[in-house]
Amino acid sequence: MSSGQRKGVFIRTYGCQMNVYDSDRMADVLRPLGYDLSPSPEQADLVVLNTCHIRERASEKVYSELGRLRDLKLERRREGADLVIAVAGCVAQAEGAEIARRQPAVDIIVGPQAYHRLPQLLAEAERKAAFRRAGKRVPGAGVLDTEFPPESKFDHLPEPGTVRAGSAFLSIQEGCDKFCTFCIVPYTRGAEYSRPVASVLQEARTLVSNGAVELTLLGQNVNAYHGEAVDGSTWSLARLLREIAGIDGLVRLRYTTSHPRDMDDDLILAHGDVPQLMPYLHLPVQSGSDRILEAMNRGHGRDHFRRLVDRLRGVRPDLALSSDFIVGFPGESDSDFDDTMRLIDEVGFAAAFSFKYSRRPGTPGAALDDQVPETVKTARLAALQALVAGQQHAFNRAKVGTTVPVLFAEPGRKPGQVLGKSPWLQSVYVEGPASLVGRIIDVRLTDGYALSLTGELIASLEEAA
Ligand code: SAM
Ligand code: SF4
Repeated sequence: MSSGQRKGVFIRTYGCQMNVYDSDRMADVLRPLGYDLSPSPEQADLVVLNTCHIRERASEKVYSELGRLRDLKLERRREGADLVIAVAGCVAQAEGAEIARRQPAVDIIVGPQAYHRLPQLLAEAERKAAFRRAGKRVPGAGVLDTEFPPESKFDHLPEPGTVRAGSAFLSIQEGCDKFCTFCIVPYTRGAEYSRPVASVLQEARTLVSNGAVELTLLGQNVNAYHGEAVDGSTWSLARLLREIAGIDGLVRLRYTTSHPRDMDDDLILAHGDVPQLMPYLHLPVQSGSDRILEAMNRGHGRDHFRRLVDRLRGVRPDLALSSDFIVGFPGESDSDFDDTMRLIDEVGFAAAFSFKYSRRPGTPGAALDDQVPETVKTARLAALQALVAGQQHAFNRAKVGTTVPVLFAEPGRKPGQVLGKSPWLQSVYVEGPASLVGRIIDVRLTDGYALSLTGELIASLEEAA
């Protein structure tokens, strides 16, 4: 809570890396208003829930968290203080009015394209609260801003302040025009938008000079990037990656999430000739059945995906792949699911995210008749996850005995341990001091497990320094 003039904000982030980026930028917006990050809602004056709407369970979590926050707010009021509650992100965008109805304790509802206006929204919420304290009637519960303003939020955000442990996210593209029939993103994040090249490059340079040795470029469809350069030309993701790779001090470059339809030739080649580009690519395929891919409106088939993988591995043989899979899309038969399992078998993944299909009201998939029973989805998900887990374990074991550069991210679970990431985004645990965090150091890998590896530093700490 308030200490002197400073106040506390607790931001809880749900969902994807783009939300992590947005939460960091909200902290940047709030800092000049006197807000520092608090470790818990109990220690905060303002709580922001930065929400995810991708699956039903993700949005339900928000309502139960809001119930807990309402109780905290009432407790504060009994003590003569207050707690400001804000809901941001995709649930705010999709269900703004519903949130205000279900939980009147919420003061601010702000969509993912409008959070640069948090200072005005906070001022308005404070005015409403002051009226209420004075016993006046205030129409409407909270303050709502879920517009897609014509000006981009990126033109109004302050310089990024947050680089955690040498690694930073950088959003370069937002929204989506692909309209996969299962997905809510085009409705919550809006039309596809690429940030101009100059603004991306400026942010990249600021992040590197603030200590980032690794940048991950983000977008809902990051490889659909088509940003305008100062000379009026349009840059692709590959061109942007090549330019950012040249920033002095930047060692690692990643991008996510890509769509198989937008993997152009230059981007594939970049995996072979940009050394900073890490040998790990997240390329969601969703299904291995052409029939289901068509029903999902993915715009690519199974062979297209297979050919892409071959070409990528042709230029970068050690490339590790991860993917997203949905099981139980309406109409998915046993044989469609077998096609997915065969694809996984043929490609070989180092990791994957897999989900049961979740019906999202307003998407075309929700209206389809042939919904798959929950028990079938559960069984398919378990089988798919077991297959991928075996591949991931084998991938980790295959690296044992090699020496790899590890970017240390945080202290490990056990005392005296630090956790870092290999170039293939594997978690690597090493005995060493917390002072390694933020540094890239060579590690000999000694054991490979299902989800991680252990290793040892090959140089003494003085040498590594
Ligand atoms: N744009 C990326 C792409 O096209 O692959 C994915 C973005 S989405 C935020 C992340 C993942 O959530 C998707 O790849 C998909 O696997 C999963 N997802 C999206 N909608 C879903 C739904 N209705 N049910 C289950 N999983 C879903
Ligand atoms: Fe959703 Fe499809 Fe767009 Fe990805 S490409 S964000 S899955 S609509």
